[in-house]
Amino acid sequence: MSLVGFIGLGQMGAHMARNLIKHGHKLIVYDVNAKVLEQFKADGATIAKFPADVAAASKDIVTMLPSSPHVKLVYTGDGGLLETLQPNSLCMDSSTIDQMVSVEMALALRQKQASYVDAPVSGGVVGAQNATLTFMVGGGDEQPVFDRAHTFLSKMGKNIVNCGKVGNGQAAKICNNMMLGISMIGVSETMNLGIRMGLDAKLLASILNTSSGRCWSSDTYNPVPGVIEGIPPSKEYQGGFGSALMAKDLSLAQNAATATHAPTPLGSMAHQIYRLLAQDPNFSQKDFGVVYQFLKEEAKK
Ligand code: NAD
Repeated sequence: MSLVGFIGLGQMGAHMARNLIKHGHKLIVYDVNAKVLEQFKADGATIAKFPADVAAASKDIVTMLPSSPHVKLVYTGDGGLLETLQPNSLCMDSSTIDQMVSVEMALALRQKQASYVDAPVSGGVVGAQNATLTFMVGGGDEQPVFDRAHTFLSKMGKNIVNCGKVGNGQAAKICNNMMLGISMIGVSETMNLGIRMGLDAKLLASILNTSSGRCWSSDTYNPVPGVIEGIPPSKEYQGGFGSALMAKDLSLAQNAATATHAPTPLGSMAHQIYRLLAQDPNFSQKDFGVVYQFLKEEAKK
């Protein structure tokens, strides 16, 4: 099997890369965090000094980076992928970024006779670990490109959805996360209200989860510590999906809403709430379920 490139070994990327290794792929990896590179070296991966080294060594490259500026830097910056990208390469970007940046990257890669798909994911860190992610693939309107991406993505996820043209994966992901941000705040304020009214948290969650209020934020990722064991809210909100990343996704949704004249009043409200969390050092790096603690503290003021 040929060498696969992987750039961005954070909460999500490290698990995804390890799943490729489990399936027998040899990896060449890059991250700005030297510590994580050491761990991958110990697992047998080749370590790159720059993204350009990855593109020089591999024609199938996955990127999993925080946001649009990071993706632009890794692809088009000094020492970036584009400097050494080989013809007939395929870059699969699983970061959640601005739809237009995905389109821009695809055009830049086309100049190099290479292909690009945006392939953002849903399923969280547990989905990344268990290879059960949903990939929303934009750029799969060219079937051979989708089939090639599928070979790698199917080793890291369970549902690989062909969304059509480049950028459509980001559109689907941004819509999903706007709904997720709204629902997480909704569950958090509901749980806080019920507990203040004297209800036991687990009892309230069990009722919500068999009633019409049920959603993923209540039954799979309940933000109240101790309601569901093993998820970030029960581990002091460590790991998981950072509040600053949720604020970023909600800002992408607001940009898209402005550009398309779509009314998104609740999305806008959720964006403002997560912006407050993202600016607060007590909350910004914690899992986005920490909005429950934020609301609890607001209630004490
Ligand atoms: P993270 O911050 O944990 O990981 C990002 C990694 O990228 C880090 O290891 C960081 O060192 C590395 N990095 C940053 N700049 C870099 C650069 N210039 N070159 C190389 N590496 C660089 O983030 P994450 O939680 O793994 O999320 C990654 C992406 O996936 C984000 O776009 C996020 O919105 C999305 N996402 C996250 C989750 C989740 O539950 N965490 C779920 C779905 C989607």
